[in-house]
Amino acid sequence: MILSRFMLAAGTAILLTACAPATQAQNDFANVEIKPEQLAPGVAALFGAGGNIAVSYGEDGTVLIDDQFAPLTEKIQKSVAALGASPVKFLINTHWHFDHTGGNENLGKAGAVIMAHDNVRVRMASEQKRGDRTNPASPKVALPVVTYAEGVKLHLNGEEVRAIALAPAHTDGDSIIHWTKSNVIHMGDTYFNKVTLPFVDLSSGGNIRGIVAAADRALALANDQTKIIPGHGPIATKADLQAYRKMVSEVIGKVEAGIKAGKTLDQIKAAKPLDGYDINVNGFIKPDGFIETVYKSLGGK
Ligand SMILES: [Zn+2]
Repeated sequence: MILSRFMLAAGTAILLTACAPATQAQNDFANVEIKPEQLAPGVAALFGAGGNIAVSYGEDGTVLIDDQFAPLTEKIQKSVAALGASPVKFLINTHWHFDHTGGNENLGKAGAVIMAHDNVRVRMASEQKRGDRTNPASPKVALPVVTYAEGVKLHLNGEEVRAIALAPAHTDGDSIIHWTKSNVIHMGDTYFNKVTLPFVDLSSGGNIRGIVAAADRALALANDQTKIIPGHGPIATKADLQAYRKMVSEVIGKVEAGIKAGKTLDQIKAAKPLDGYDINVNGFIKPDGFIETVYKSLGGK
């Protein structure tokens, strides 16, 4: 399978090691550029390949949110330095997926203190199977050393940066990150903006209802000026996230009604519950796949 730039951009790294020859993957990483976008003084997003990164920096040190893939660590470090930031002191993972934690080992070795939801450490510390793909356990240096069940607050660079643990959504170890003064929120993969339909990783304990709950949690913190960093895709507004939340919630309602009415998955898919929404049907998660995940997540057999 050819690994296209779009796939990398969409973070569909599932294809990366499973299908692409190693040299091809290396070449693709060699061509990846890390592009910064300033969101507030001392807060920037970095776009490359894999999950979107956020950087918080200033006189008290640099916090990185997620770190994409190991072959990109050096480029990410250079991009951080180009912002005028010191080397990464703290790293927070929004969840365990390898397109968000692939740089952990490198950054852990470089001295970063890694933090995440309790279940990120649990999943990274053991082999994970998803479909026919197996992720080996991560080395100790790549694991979060500070973990939390509810969240953690970092008091630095003139504001509180809060990691808020969520109920199962994209996985069972998701966090959103809130810059309370800069008015920025990183949603991790509980939110994809424009690039694909929602992805609920059921084999990692995800739950479609948690996607709605995650959006509600963020929306309660947001106003019309808030800059929302999705796990993948461009920076979003509160209105974008509201539209996404509405779509997911209404699709849940339709699929749930179908299950209650005794309809099969095929009958529910045939009713086209996604019609009428402004969604990207050509992303990593296709309409039928999304409906199937919603169905299974709601207990459909
Ligand atoms: Zn993910």
